[in-house]
Amino acid sequence: MNVAPDPKSIPQGTLLSPEANQAAVLATATGVLTVDLDAIVANWRKLEKTAVPAECAGVVKADGYGCGAEQVARALSNAGCKTFFVATLDEARAVRAAVPTTAAIYVLGGFFQNTGDAYARIDCKPVIGDLNELAEWDVFCRRSGWSGGAAIHIDTGMNRLGMTVTEAQGIIPRINAGDHGITLVMSHLASAELLNNPANARQLTAFREIASLFSGVPASLANSSGIFLGAQFQFDIVRPGCALYGINPTPEADNPMQPVVELKARIVQIRNIERGDTVGYGGTWTARRPTRIAIVAAGYADGYFRAASSNDGTRGAEVVVAGRRCPIAGRISMDLTAVDITDLDKNAVRRGHMVTLIGEGITVDELAHHFGTIGYEVLTSLGKRYARIYKGGNATAESPAPPPAEPPAASA
Ligand SMILES: *Cc1c(COP(=O)(O)O)cnc(C)c1O
Repeated sequence: MNVAPDPKSIPQGTLLSPEANQAAVLATATGVLTVDLDAIVANWRKLEKTAVPAECAGVVKADGYGCGAEQVARALSNAGCKTFFVATLDEARAVRAAVPTTAAIYVLGGFFQNTGDAYARIDCKPVIGDLNELAEWDVFCRRSGWSGGAAIHIDTGMNRLGMTVTEAQGIIPRINAGDHGITLVMSHLASAELLNNPANARQLTAFREIASLFSGVPASLANSSGIFLGAQFQFDIVRPGCALYGINPTPEADNPMQPVVELKARIVQIRNIERGDTVGYGGTWTARRPTRIAIVAAGYADGYFRAASSNDGTRGAEVVVAGRRCPIAGRISMDLTAVDITDLDKNAVRRGHMVTLIGEGITVDELAHHFGTIGYEVLTSLGKRYARIYKGGNATAESPAPPPAEPPAASA
């Protein structure tokens, strides 16, 4: 077992070995967030195989859905992913530093005035969703000679970003004239996670028609859930985000993806309370028997939302302590959460042990249910106070099996 060095024995300015450094970080950590990059790569490969022959991109906006955009982009790139989507230029900058110059990076969140040079400087592409944006981008490209390309985003019913179909039709003559600088035409599905929502077919029809007029330009419609709506939704490039990170893209059926994050937090104190005592702010939870309470160092400031609190009338979320599920007791506070561990063996846990908030069967989607939200918000709210550990991520692109080795020459 790793033993953390006594800090008093570390002279100021001494660099610790990576192992000693990690042990020191873990010794002081209130919680540990482990991101399994191999699981992200396995999820990407599964999506890629589902969408073949379409190209499978990786959506790494919002710091890779809270998992670390640079680490995720690097792992996906090593595995063969060639196209990345982010929301902002800052995010594009972080991803650009992590992936080869040949990788394409699209910025989804709108093209702001006078920012063309910022795109060119890091070779990333704006996703243009309005004719004014397009005109400004064209002026920038003409003046600078930049020809890095841009996507056209067409709204087909979401009414969020993107130009109307009619506006997009106005671009067709330019597409037909050639040398247009458009490298992708895309739209976004509003209800892809609901298999039978009629909006899916409506958006598909609208997008298929307009995309077919962008001849020679790769087309993209599907997010994670859209990939599972069938081949006709997949076009040339699919844009999965949530499924890469283990969120169920088919919430009406079992989750086809592997879990990616594990979150543990430390027991700071264990206390015994009497029947009738209450726990936490407002005294909303009352002990119905002599009770053992573990106080865990994670709260709503760490993204463990207060909505998952329990009280005398309602159960809240559960955490896994020493291999068993235990209920939260009372209100989740900013930095701390109380857990009822009365049913555990007395010696099963001690102060300093870690409990599992996500993992050991507790999924991001289950926690989202207790939080009254979706898995996306659970991941993108994961706190900054946890120590982070990355597992794997070194998988390389799958290539054909090497030819069998020559048999060793018979010795003379
Ligand atoms: C976020 C986003 C995606 C990825 O969506 P998931 O549901 O996370 O797979 C794809 N396309 C656009 C335009 C997005 O904003």
